[in-house]
Amino acid sequence: MSITDSPLSQPETDESTNLPTEGVDPQRLPLPEATQPLKILWQYVIVLSTVHLIALLAFLPFSFGYLFTWSGLILAVLGHFVFGMMGITIGYHRLLTHRGFHCPKWLEHGLAILGMCNLQDSPARWVAIHRMHHQHSDHQPDPHTPLANFLWGHVGWVVCRHRDLDRTSHYERYVRDLLRDPFYLRLERRGGWFFVFVAHAVLISLMGALFGFAVSGGIAAEAVRYSYSWFVWAVAVRTVFVLHGTWAVNSLSHVFGYRNYETRDNSRNNWLVALISHGEGWHNNHHAQPRAASHGHHWYEFDMSWRVIQFLEWVGLATDVVRPKTEQVADVEKES
Ligand SMILES: [Zn+2]
Ligand SMILES: [Zn+2]
Repeated sequence: MSITDSPLSQPETDESTNLPTEGVDPQRLPLPEATQPLKILWQYVIVLSTVHLIALLAFLPFSFGYLFTWSGLILAVLGHFVFGMMGITIGYHRLLTHRGFHCPKWLEHGLAILGMCNLQDSPARWVAIHRMHHQHSDHQPDPHTPLANFLWGHVGWVVCRHRDLDRTSHYERYVRDLLRDPFYLRLERRGGWFFVFVAHAVLISLMGALFGFAVSGGIAAEAVRYSYSWFVWAVAVRTVFVLHGTWAVNSLSHVFGYRNYETRDNSRNNWLVALISHGEGWHNNHHAQPRAASHGHHWYEFDMSWRVIQFLEWVGLATDVVRPKTEQVADVEKES
């Protein structure tokens, strides 16, 4: 089994129920060696702090009245589905990381572009980190286990250097399949993915200006207000919600919730995370069967992303869709 394959399939056959490193308090797992000595990535701190501060403007008393528009709010909710679910959950995660289904290249690249509009790094880097997570989940080399400490698992790992991720050449062994495609390789160079994020933010703001101009009957001040409103709500607020939804899968879903499967990690099924991340919160199911495109294994484990993948399959755009192994699901039914 190659290293590239292992994160996709390894946990399915692992029947060990051990949590990490015997003799170590599982709540005080050491941080990954590759992050020592800790070095803050200031560019990540600055960009992430900035988007949080801009999002905050939407809720502060002095700016709320000026920035709030119904269209901005509706676009934020829609964007949570379009960029968050289609881009991250379905694109980055279930398609690019785990190859839970196949689809035409134009659609795969389209989903990857939607993923880049969430400020969650390039597709290759995201996939490399996530495959590393599956390979070592809740053991010391796991890049973001909350068993080291909760805040580390949520966001700390994002803003600290990880030596194996410093350069593409270091992590390419995890993402050889992706980097064979020049589309993903180009995005690794000179922060190409970040320009996609900036471009989409500029585009949404310009569309806001046009919309404001039209609905106000040509008042320039309203065009400016709508432009700001759409930027704050449809870009910043939505991006922050998607970020925390994804981060909560790594933090909350490895600490709180129930388990259907005795995986070798501390993954949990967490309904709140499932709700805010379009089904990703059924994370114990996912660690038990990483390639399955459906993360809900019980009828009550609603998985919005799976419904969309089923729809793509129905219209012929998704093929070779990997379903949960039925005998394992049947065991779950018996036990519950
Ligand atoms: Zn996990
Ligand atoms: Zn995964």
